[in-house]
Amino acid sequence: MTNPPAISVARRGLMLVLSSPSGAGKSTLAQLLLKEHPEMHLSVSVTTRDRRPSEVEGIHYHFIKRERFEKLRDTGDLLESAEVHGNFYGTPREPVETALAAGKDVLFDIDYQGTLQLYEKMRADIVGVFILPPSATELKTRLERRAEDASGVIEKRLKNARTEIAHWEEYDYVLVNEDLNTTFINLQAILSAERLRRQRQLGLAPIIERLDEELAAMTA
Ligand code: GDP
Ligand code: ADP
Ligand code: 5GP
Repeated sequence: MTNPPAISVARRGLMLVLSSPSGAGKSTLAQLLLKEHPEMHLSVSVTTRDRRPSEVEGIHYHFIKRERFEKLRDTGDLLESAEVHGNFYGTPREPVETALAAGKDVLFDIDYQGTLQLYEKMRADIVGVFILPPSATELKTRLERRAEDASGVIEKRLKNARTEIAHWEEYDYVLVNEDLNTTFINLQAILSAERLRRQRQLGLAPIIERLDEELAAMTA
């Protein structure tokens, strides 16, 4: 990779949304991305689902009761929310708004219903990436290998995969996660290109102005 440009231009933060059927690898990719780009902010969702053995409260999710979820949703404290695989999930509004206001990029691991809600509210800021498994067999193998869900839960998630995949066309980008390293490189390419979008580079005006003045003086 080449070095970053010496002139850094002030930029509007973007919202990078990862969705996929369960087991396609979005949490793995999200963790890789955060490790490589610690300047990004991960949106930690609230959920009514039970905590998995490997999960830590406040890091992977805020695990809450149904009543608390409904209160948060009804008081407008969630930017979006949805029922997924029989549990409720939602994105707390305040941390996202604070991070964006500070010019940070925010990473989301949410389902298609939540993505559609964000698209409706904040289209210009969203970059949607849908992640596909290379095959149904591989998806099942990954869910089983992860060994965090009971067999009934895995069955339910496989059943729901078709509905989720049906929404692939609503996303800006699609990645087939066959080789993890290749997928990660491609995900980073998406992030780099989207960060450079003209509309996001708020600090360009003074640079253009200065260039113009310098060129005018040089060629007078
Ligand atoms: P995974 O699919 O195996 O990672 O299972 P999870 O239990 O972590 O996520 C369940 C579903 O909820 C997935 O489709 C997620 O994308 C979705 N999800 C997670 N967090 C959010 C959120 O904040 N908002 C919305 N709308 N969906 C979410
Ligand atoms: P999701 O968050 O989409 O449900 P995970 O990130 O938890 O999926 O991945 C499911 C399992 O598959 C994990 O055990 C993970 O290590 C594994 N995995 C992810 N990507 C790949 C890949 N490209 N090749 C093989 N295994 C993968
Ligand atoms: P899991 O239970 O495996 O952690 O997540 C199941 C699904 O719920 C995943 O597709 C995940 O992206 C989605 N999900 C997690 N948090 C949220 C959320 O806050 N909102 C929405 N809409 N989906 C979520």
